[in-house]
Amino acid sequence: MVLKPEFNLPKETSEVTGKDGKQYLQFNTSMATLYKQTYGEHSRFFFALKEARLIGSKCTKCGQVMVPAATWKCPMCGFAEMKEVTLPHRGILAQTAPITIFPSQSFIGQAPFCRGYVDVATDAKVASFLPSRLKTTTGIPRPGVFVKGIELKLVFADERVGSILDIFWVPMSEIPAKLRKKEPLFERELDFESPKLPKIKANKEFKPAYTSLMQLLKEMSANVARSKRSQQNLAGKKYRVGVKTGGGDFTFIIEKNKMGVVAGVAKKTDFIIVAEDPNVFIKWINDGSLTDAVVEGNLWLPSREAFIILPTLDRLPRSIRRDLH
Ligand SMILES: [Zn+2]
Repeated sequence: MVLKPEFNLPKETSEVTGKDGKQYLQFNTSMATLYKQTYGEHSRFFFALKEARLIGSKCTKCGQVMVPAATWKCPMCGFAEMKEVTLPHRGILAQTAPITIFPSQSFIGQAPFCRGYVDVATDAKVASFLPSRLKTTTGIPRPGVFVKGIELKLVFADERVGSILDIFWVPMSEIPAKLRKKEPLFERELDFESPKLPKIKANKEFKPAYTSLMQLLKEMSANVARSKRSQQNLAGKKYRVGVKTGGGDFTFIIEKNKMGVVAGVAKKTDFIIVAEDPNVFIKWINDGSLTDAVVEGNLWLPSREAFIILPTLDRLPRSIRRDLH
């Protein structure tokens, strides 16, 4: 097992007087304790997930349903017996889910992702909501996808280890009709790799913005050639990104520490991104941020791979400004 150091302790020393009265030098260090912990009463719920089943515990007295089944004795009814109930593989999103763009340490590499509370035991009078991961087959999650009240389908990961990440939910509207009632439905049965490009109509109103954008991109490309910092930003990077907008299309060509731009979507691209309004990119050039445009729902990305290049692009306007202005 390889463990990453989680502590960033200041490298400093200090003096301490020992029991023998002499002075000693001490430094900062850390001690980690590794241990195994059982899920306890939760185990039954996670065993079920491994078998691609979703269960809850239901009180024989008050009828409340707990999901995940955290206990088998009802805390509301003097620890009355709770029995196992099989839950449906569909649910309702109880609250509009936030999109996590900058995750905590333990989720680095997974962003952007959505987490939400799902009402599964919709027939029960009282039931807890199941906190779970939400996924869409339509690209990077954007505002408007996971809104309160939408119907969701439960999907099981192909490889399950007994963790809450063994399951996730997908909007029912994205599930092919013939799979909607299938239980259990597995991740491999859905296509997350090739989301359809959102349709945008060519819009005359966006034409002038596109024209000035192409001019600004040309200038930017020339500025990159004169800015050491921006060349460092692009060092080792090589990709072609097609961009579709309502005013017209273009392609970023990043290679050899340069940024080139050509009109239209090139035949070969690593991916295509979509923004209805070309001003999304004008804002970026004027020291805005493409990451913000994703958060705001104004820029569509097909995948996490596309998301990972944004920080590089976002640094360029800043680097140019620092070097040239
Ligand atoms: Zn009860």
